[in-house]
Amino acid sequence: MESIVGQPIEFEVLVHAQWTPTAHLAATFRSGRVFVIGDAAHALPPSMGMGANLAIADAHNLAWKLAWVLDGRAGAGLLDSYDPERRPVDAFILERSIIEMDWSVKQFDEATAMIGLGYPPASSPAMIGESTGMPIRDPHDSGPEVRMRVPHHWLIDGRSTLDLANSNTFAAVGIMDAGITEIPYGNIPGSPTAPQRVWLIRPDGHIAAHVPAEEIASTIDWILERH
Ligand SMILES: Cc1cc2nc3c(=O)[nH]c(=O)nc-3n(C[C@H](O)[C@H](O)[C@H](O)COP(=O)(O)OP(=O)(O)OC[C@H]3O[C@@H](n4cnc5c(N)ncnc54)[C@H](O)[C@@H]3O)c2cc1C
Repeated sequence: MESIVGQPIEFEVLVHAQWTPTAHLAATFRSGRVFVIGDAAHALPPSMGMGANLAIADAHNLAWKLAWVLDGRAGAGLLDSYDPERRPVDAFILERSIIEMDWSVKQFDEATAMIGLGYPPASSPAMIGESTGMPIRDPHDSGPEVRMRVPHHWLIDGRSTLDLANSNTFAAVGIMDAGITEIPYGNIPGSPTAPQRVWLIRPDGHIAAHVPAEEIASTIDWILERH
């Protein structure tokens, strides 16, 4: 103790506990009406410092879905997307955390591990697209991609694309001659100025689909199981 503090000090040991690193992943994140998140769903070694980060990300994924189903804006099937979206990325970080128990190994920078995770569209009922490659990408890469969080780009009106992620609504963005713009749903059909395809941003900021502009409403209905 003296060598840590740098001078002699009086101290008394009040609690002593043995800590053992563990690595567990729940076989499912849902059983009927019960959803598990955080340490109840995954226990990680501390090497990447991701336990709380994943817990918050689990809640971030589930919260808007619960809210939308409970207030009738979405069908109950939207909740089926929680496990297939979160469990693969939590498993991915769990595996990487085991590898990084060798302290000389560093696979990703913090920003990539924390906000660079994307969900597998092919197995999620709340996304439309192919599942390709690793579920992680450097968030500084600027291109939009179905499954990932929408990256920052300035819109024509001076806002950021990040401002479009809103727990109460989906948003659509497209590229026009003048730049990137939000597309209000109502203006889509037949509008001569509408871009041909739009990126559909979910309330949690992840890109759910890249669809023709006239299919925005039907795509949202499909994702929300309202058809
Ligand atoms: C020393 C240390 C350092 C860490 N550093 C990091 C880090 O740098 N970055 C990071 O991302 N993560 C870190 N973590 C991991 C992080 O703390 C956990 O992953 C995170 O707290 C998990 O959150 P949780 O809400 O799932 O569980 P908890 O934080 O454990 O919350 C569960 C809560 O439920 C309560 N509870 C339990 N049973 C009952 C019951 N029957 N009824 C009512 N309440 C109950 C508990 O008292 C507790 O308050 C660290 C952990 C430790 C121990």
